[in-house]
Amino acid sequence: MATLQGTQYPVGSFKIVSLAGKYDYTKATKLVCPKCSVDTEYLNPYHCPQCGENFSSWMKLKRVDKITGEELPKPRLLPEKTTAQAQVYHMSAEEFAQKYLDITADDKGIEPLDANSVLQLQLLLVLAERMQQVIVLRWNDTYQINVAVLTLSPSNRVVLKEIIPRPLVIPKPTFTVDPESVSEQHLSLAKILMDNIPEVTDEVMTVDDFRTHGVQTDYTEAEAEMKAEVKSLMQVLAQMQVLA
Ligand SMILES: [Zn+2]
Repeated sequence: MATLQGTQYPVGSFKIVSLAGKYDYTKATKLVCPKCSVDTEYLNPYHCPQCGENFSSWMKLKRVDKITGEELPKPRLLPEKTTAQAQVYHMSAEEFAQKYLDITADDKGIEPLDANSVLQLQLLLVLAERMQQVIVLRWNDTYQINVAVLTLSPSNRVVLKEIIPRPLVIPKPTFTVDPESVSEQHLSLAKILMDNIPEVTDEVMTVDDFRTHGVQTDYTEAEAEMKAEVKSLMQVLAQMQVLA
């Protein structure tokens, strides 16, 4: 809702939805007695009926494949007492938006509930970006007041970022960028650096570790569904433009 000339005006109706699901590797595996590989009983603590041993926490159990019983490999990737080093890659924002999703587990998306909301929210977000404005939403939940920022992600997804409002937020001094403070000369040096950073590839965006055991995600199907959704929104928009 927005107030226009003293009147409450609906900007759009939408439902808050999860942006992405995440594969849960624990579905294909189970925890068993580390000695005899049999199921334990949870009698607070965990009890192995075969060897009679008790384990105070699930962390002391062994994770195996549910079907084959094979132990889930969990090799150490970072040697002890070493610092992690991240490799840097880059890609054009347009190409990134076409190929990948930049989604964290906590991010929420929105699903407009009618054609008018699709149009108005789209216009508002594009205009906000062009005018370098931030869109803030505030609403009452059952017991608390929520404040969120409505943003566009690098893959052009509308992301609802629920923020920690004042006075609850405790600021921490993390890195911020001041675009005014960098000179063109420095930027041309940074351009040389950028040119030497390798391009993002599918290999960069795909991981293979203990969490991916038994994971079979058909991205062609998931992507087709996503594209069909976008297409139907575009059709709604096209129809509205015909009517207007
Ligand atoms: Zn046992």
